[in-house]
Amino acid sequence: MLPTTIENRNGIMFIDGVSSLDLAKRFDTPLYVVSEKRIRQNYRNVFSNLKQNYQKIRINYSAKANTNISVLKILESEGANLDVVSPGEAFLALKSGFSPERIIFTGTNARDDELKYLIESKVLINADSLSMLERILKIKTPDTISFRINPMIGAGHHEHCITAGKDSKFGIWEDDALAAYKRALDAGVKKFGIHMHIGSGIMNAQPFLLALEKLLEIAGKIRKTLGIKFDFIDIGGGIGVPYRLGEKEIDLAEFSNLILGAFNKGVKDNDLGEPFFCVEPGRYIICDSCVLLTAVNTVKENPNKKFIGVDAGFNVLVRPAMYGSYHHVLVANRMNAPEEQECDVAGPLCESGDLLAKNRKLPKIQEGDVLAVLNAGAYGFSMSSNYNSRQRPAEVLVNEGKCAIVRERETMDNLLLHQKTARWLK
Ligand SMILES: *Cc1c(COP(=O)(O)O)cnc(C)c1O
Repeated sequence: MLPTTIENRNGIMFIDGVSSLDLAKRFDTPLYVVSEKRIRQNYRNVFSNLKQNYQKIRINYSAKANTNISVLKILESEGANLDVVSPGEAFLALKSGFSPERIIFTGTNARDDELKYLIESKVLINADSLSMLERILKIKTPDTISFRINPMIGAGHHEHCITAGKDSKFGIWEDDALAAYKRALDAGVKKFGIHMHIGSGIMNAQPFLLALEKLLEIAGKIRKTLGIKFDFIDIGGGIGVPYRLGEKEIDLAEFSNLILGAFNKGVKDNDLGEPFFCVEPGRYIICDSCVLLTAVNTVKENPNKKFIGVDAGFNVLVRPAMYGSYHHVLVANRMNAPEEQECDVAGPLCESGDLLAKNRKLPKIQEGDVLAVLNAGAYGFSMSSNYNSRQRPAEVLVNEGKCAIVRERETMDNLLLHQKTARWLK
């Protein structure tokens, strides 16, 4: 199913009331087009469904999915909190108007100077190891601390996206959890949270339920042994979205009901009081708000295969090359044309893996057509690069017929930025 913000008006794709062809003409391609309305819809959908099952809900949007400051500002205005994974993301969050207490850092293997920056910026920290805790305490004892626990249950759409379990680099094992909280308590920390993040692209509640039960059990032990009262319990992100048309989406009402049912029960069973329930969706909020427009420059018919050559490579959208991900492709200027050929949609990079779509049924395509790659909002621009010395694309925000450029296309000069010629080569 297409999000309601994408319309077919006489064969032309409109995104949040703006013609995709006008956008491509005006801002050139490849172009990320983000719908403000869809971001707000998705955020409110998560919030209202959770809120129906529990009073104290906090949504920490996971900034790494899309860190455009206009996107962050939209979520700020919705009342979201933010999950950040680097000092750079904390910096962007602060610049977008988030007060530091609305930002929580859940990074791994952070350097001392990075921790110092985060502590001085007064953002919350969700520590990933005993080593990180000791290094935080050396800088300053924070008022609040949280620990990322590895509940030994992981899940995700790709091996790279499973972030818990016995081989995971993330989080603190149950056996070390008590020592971590005891050390923080002894050092004078006053408020506590507990956190997990098990993976990304998870399409059902089951893994969350198993991991949550474990997390609450661990929290209960800490509560009992150390007398700590948890201010918040955070189940991380990872709620998946359908990328294929016809794929079933998560029923958020049922999901919220199941998760918060288990939460309410676990909190009671483990005597945990009434903490905030936090969740950190990135993909769910931003993914289907965005379309990547890419123009066709080449049509090549080889005996074995037909290639549609476009101007967006994996430097623009890496997910197909990196995870083998499926992204649905439509012809933005001929949405009513019947699908009648099978082809590969190939980018301009010198890598055979530079394919946005493989063996895909598409309408007959001509040079100059504009393709729309759907669900490009999460881990799209934020994972883009300058590989092959290509410039990163522009981003444009649309909202009920209006549009505004929110990131300019890079120029050739960007490729020279920060490069220096060695003095003996001058
Ligand atoms: C990446 C990440 C998320 C968001 O994952 P999604 O699959 O985009 O929802 C949430 N929390 C943490 C700690 C993360 O690293």
